[in-house]
Amino acid sequence: MKAARAFIALGANLGDARATVTQAIHSLGQLPGITVMKQSSLYRSAPVDASGPDFINAVAEVTTTLNPQALLVALQALEQDAGRQRPYRNAPRTLDLDILLYGEVTLDSPTLTIPHPRMFTRAFVLLPLAEIAPEHVTAAQLQAVSQQAIERVGILP
Ligand code: ADP
Ligand code: MG
Repeated sequence: MKAARAFIALGANLGDARATVTQAIHSLGQLPGITVMKQSSLYRSAPVDASGPDFINAVAEVTTTLNPQALLVALQALEQDAGRQRPYRNAPRTLDLDILLYGEVTLDSPTLTIPHPRMFTRAFVLLPLAEIAPEHVTAAQLQAVSQQAIERVGILP
């Protein structure tokens, strides 16, 4: 199968969030059928829809031979490895992995919506995405989230 280019958003706001996100990008690249091509810097953001401490966020570009649903299953396995629990909607999370874009695919199923429905309202997605794939983010979209509290905290090791 031809490999597709996809963008994955990573976020964590429990425990050592920075270590979790760094480790998750590494683990992503170890999965069969997934190759990490690019990774953004790490960002720190105030919770928007979620609660709890500040988040650490990043975006990774991957090429993958997994179809979108199989990619989601693989990402959810990594969330489980990181101890993700879902006690209630928008609860703090040790690790959240969302598919932002998958090639040119648009999809709206009960378990998967691509492009991710909330990506364009979130600075913590748009800033790291614009860093590694500026062609996917417009100036107007960045302007629309410019009031959200976010700072770049470092380059991934
Ligand atoms: P959040 O919306 O805060 O990321 P979860 O990580 O608990 O919440 O995800 C809830 C559900 O969202 C998942 O079970 C998954 O089926 C669904 N979902 C829909 N579209 C996507 C997507 N593009 N990436 C990841 N999960 C998605
Ligand atoms: Mg999620």
